[in-house]
Amino acid sequence: MIDTRNPARPSKTFSRSYVAPALQAHLVQGGTVEAWLNGRTPLVSYARISADRLKGDGIGVGRQHKNNARNAEQHGCVVVLHYEDNNLTAAKREVKRPAFLQMCRDITHGREEETGVPVRGCVTVERERVYRLPRDFIAFQDALVMVSDGAGDGVFIEDKTLLDLVNDDGTIIAGLVTSGTGEAEVRKIRKRTVRNAADRAEEGKTYGGPRRFGWLGACKDPYRLGNKHKSANEWPHLIDMIKARYAGRSWRAITGEINKREVLTARGGRWTEQGVKALVTNPAWWGGRVLNGEVVTDRKSGDPVIGDWDHATEETDGVGYETWKSIMTGVKANRLHRGMRRDAEVPHPEDELRTRGYLFSGTLRCGRVNDFEEVCYSKLSGNKASGKNAKYGDYYRCGDANCRGVGRRVDPVDRYLEELVLAYLDKHFAGTKVETVPWRGKDKMTTLRRQRRDIKDSVASGQADWSDVHDLITRLNRNIQALEQEERDHLAAERKRNLLRGWSREKWGQMELEEKREAIAQVFTSVVVMPVPKGVSDKAPFDPTLLRVSWRKERKVAQSENG
Ligand SMILES: [Zn+2]
Repeated sequence: MIDTRNPARPSKTFSRSYVAPALQAHLVQGGTVEAWLNGRTPLVSYARISADRLKGDGIGVGRQHKNNARNAEQHGCVVVLHYEDNNLTAAKREVKRPAFLQMCRDITHGREEETGVPVRGCVTVERERVYRLPRDFIAFQDALVMVSDGAGDGVFIEDKTLLDLVNDDGTIIAGLVTSGTGEAEVRKIRKRTVRNAADRAEEGKTYGGPRRFGWLGACKDPYRLGNKHKSANEWPHLIDMIKARYAGRSWRAITGEINKREVLTARGGRWTEQGVKALVTNPAWWGGRVLNGEVVTDRKSGDPVIGDWDHATEETDGVGYETWKSIMTGVKANRLHRGMRRDAEVPHPEDELRTRGYLFSGTLRCGRVNDFEEVCYSKLSGNKASGKNAKYGDYYRCGDANCRGVGRRVDPVDRYLEELVLAYLDKHFAGTKVETVPWRGKDKMTTLRRQRRDIKDSVASGQADWSDVHDLITRLNRNIQALEQEERDHLAAERKRNLLRGWSREKWGQMELEEKREAIAQVFTSVVVMPVPKGVSDKAPFDPTLLRVSWRKERKVAQSENG
């Protein structure tokens, strides 16, 4: 262990390392390291107070270690060692940080040199504490790659977030110090890191990092890589979540269901929508990975490279790459697309609907002739019953400023329209299967991509000149992009239809409000509410003939599907 303090000359500048106090206490009482770890991944807590920040540095070393210990445990890890560089900057080449250097060595060997305490990574409050210079980044990254014989599964946690330094696509290292000669160096490293990640992806190497739900974690005896082998207990739940999303269920409903089953996350906690999304959108479950915004594919066949870890297939699990593509068309968060190119952001109907609490408020339109002698056609909004009208219950109402408005009680309207929807769905979607009608352009796309690759290859090998093929490539790119858009549109439409396929009244009963609305939107284009005729009292019984229903034109599609 390191301790550079000199009792004869006290100084604020010193480095040291020591066994984490909690582990130390356990060992003193005769416990073993293995029992202490209890399957958790052992990490170094690295803390540093910089020379330039010593004055008024808000986060003392003690507090950094405390935060680190807490954050490590959130990822199934535990702090076993403390390393500190006090009053030392990480931004100057000439300043050596003894604790940092020792940490890199110890991680590389998987053990602390003196005590033999195992270690597989590092947790810190911010990455700048660990590295600021490209040189240090490389040393640290190398250590994470080397830790288990080059498997690249060393762990790095910054605050609460797990960072994949080994498979970085260039974003993590973007913030390195770039003063002076640094810039070229950073560029070089970025290239190197990206290349390294690409090599690993193309080889189909197992993902590093802590255990992912559905797979077993790493194990020393018998030796086993993490995230490679299926967990027999968790796998069926993972597949269920994927299938539910494919069938159009909302993230919220899926999250509710998995928690009701009392299935815990990989970290042993309750599921959140974010957690479910992150898992279901991760290409790892079908064996793929996304790099530089594209699914990693084989150069010859153009098919996705399938990794060497256990994964779902159409044959064994009924879900695969095509299922995933369909799921991704309904995912909004860019982060979950892992940099893949997407459509321009169009307002999502789900967002619009979420604000309203009534089943048909997105569908109902006002049928009154307004101040401009036109049919108003404004959307009706649902309103809570209040005041002296409370006894009549909630009502839909047109609130347009140039319209005297129409209103109708929610209960009878919902009951009547819901029955229409259910009858329609019974007729057209009962007995159908959740599936995706294949997109017709697949072969075409493969051909064009192959052409493009062949042309690029012939330029690279000198058989063709770039200027001769430039126009051709430009045109191919345009065609391919148009086809990609077409495929996305097709999959998005199919995904919506899957909410209805496999229809049963029971399914309706399980749907969330927003899912029901999405289903309704596929049955009706609109329902116009006509004003109550002159001479008829506002309080007259509900008259369904005053609702003018427009059906979606997809009826034919549904019928042919039905047989
Ligand atoms: Zn109106």
